[in-house]
Amino acid sequence: MNDKGKELYDVIKGKINSMKEEDSLERQYWNFWKLGCFLKTKAHDLKNVYEDTSREFVDKYKEQLIKMREQVLENLDYYVEKCINVMRKANNFKVHYAKTNKEAHHIFMEELGDNKVVYKSKSNEAKDIGIIDFLKKNDIIIKETDLGDVLVQLFDYKLPSFQVGPGAHFSIDDIVAKIKEMHGVELEPKPSAIVDYYRKTYRKELLNNVKVSLTSANAISAEDGTIVLGENEGNISLLTRATEKHIVVCGIQKIVPTVLDAVLVAKIQSRINNVPFNYINLISGPSSTSDIRGINVLGMYGAKEVVIILVDEWRTKAIKENLFYKDYLKCISCRTCNFVCTAARAFGNIFASKYGWGATAILTDYIHNGIEAAVQDGLFFCTNCENCYHWCPVSINIGEIMKSIKKEAKKAGLCPPPLKEYQQKILKDKNPFK
Ligand code: SF4
Ligand code: SF4
Repeated sequence: MNDKGKELYDVIKGKINSMKEEDSLERQYWNFWKLGCFLKTKAHDLKNVYEDTSREFVDKYKEQLIKMREQVLENLDYYVEKCINVMRKANNFKVHYAKTNKEAHHIFMEELGDNKVVYKSKSNEAKDIGIIDFLKKNDIIIKETDLGDVLVQLFDYKLPSFQVGPGAHFSIDDIVAKIKEMHGVELEPKPSAIVDYYRKTYRKELLNNVKVSLTSANAISAEDGTIVLGENEGNISLLTRATEKHIVVCGIQKIVPTVLDAVLVAKIQSRINNVPFNYINLISGPSSTSDIRGINVLGMYGAKEVVIILVDEWRTKAIKENLFYKDYLKCISCRTCNFVCTAARAFGNIFASKYGWGATAILTDYIHNGIEAAVQDGLFFCTNCENCYHWCPVSINIGEIMKSIKKEAKKAGLCPPPLKEYQQKILKDKNPFK
C-alpha cells in the first residue's frame, strides 16, 4: 500500500468511527436505515393491494425489460437520433445533445439566461451530470421541491440521503424545531401539520413563481419523444406545468424504444421500491392551444418551453470500447440494490459518494473521478456477495464490476492493509484466518 492508499484508508477509518458515535448524523441515518431494511424484507408488501407482490411483478416483466434495455444499448446511436428527431419535429421540444458533462453545464447556463433561481425535483441524473455542483458554483439558487429534499435542504444535511423518502431519518420533533428556527412558525409535532404547512405556503410559490424548472426523466420514448416522469407528491406535475421553461437533463441511456416501455420502466421503479407513483406524467410537448382559428400558439397554461439536454459523456465510449462497466447502462436507477447490499446494510450512507449512496453511486464516482475517489467512498466495503445481481430487475452484476475496480485499486497500491494480510494468509496457508 502506498502513501495515497494510507491516506484513503484513514479517511475510511474516520467514517467508520463517526458512525459509531451515538449522536452522529451517520449513526442516526444508519439506525433508521436498519429499520427501513427490516421493514422492506419482513413486511414490504403489506401495504399493497395488488394481487402480486412487488417481486412477482418485477419477475413477470424482468425478461422483457432486460431484452428492451439490451436492444437499446446495441443500437444506441439509432435510438438517440430517432428520439432527437421526433422530439424536435413532432413535439416542439428544444433538444440539445451534449457530448460531455461540461458541455451540458454550459448549455444549461445559456438556457437559464438571467434567471438566478431553479426549482428542481429529485434528480439523480442532474447530480451525476454535475449540473447541481455547477449551478451552486455559479451562485444559482436551487430550490428543492420534493418534501424530503426540502427537509434535507432545510437541515443542510450534507451526507447522501435516501433516494426514496430523503430526510426520513429526521425525527418529527427535530423537523418542527428546525421549521421554528428557520421560518419562525410553531407547528404541532405531527406529519400532517408539517405537510399542511408546506401545502399552504410553498405550494403557492410553486404555482406562481417558477420561471425555470429542472427535472430528469424516468425514461424517454424514442418512438414519439414522450418524457415519462413518475412521482407521488405532485411537485413534478406543478414544476412541469406552472413554469415558463421546463428543462430536462438526463443521460442518453434513458431512451427506450416505445412509450409503453417508458411506462414499464416507471412502473417497475414504483413497484420495486414499494412506493406509489400517484402520478405518471407523460410530456409530449410544451403547453399549446389552437383554439383561436386553428392557429397553434405555444404556452397556454403550462410550460411555454420544454428543453431537453441529452448527455453522452462516458456512455457511447463504454459501449464502443466494451468497457467493463458498460452493463451499468442498463440500469433503470431504481436504487433498490441498496436494500439487499451487504455493505450498504452494514455501513449506511458512509458506503457512498457525492452522487448518492450505495454501490451504484460509488461506481458513478469511479467513472467520473477515478480509482482514488472510489476507494475513499468505501469501495472495499463491498463483499462481492452479489446480492445486488440477484435482486436487480435488469440483472446487472454490480458486484462483479466492483471486483474489477478493486483489482485496479490493488494495482494502484490502494488496497487496505487488512485485505493484504488476508491475501498473504490465503496464498501461504490456504486459510485467511490461520
Ligand atoms: S443496478 Fe439494478 S437494482 Fe441497482 S439501481 Fe440499477 S437497476 Fe436498480
Ligand atoms: S456484491 Fe458488493 S455491491 Fe453487490 S450487494 Fe454485495 S456488497 Fe453490495
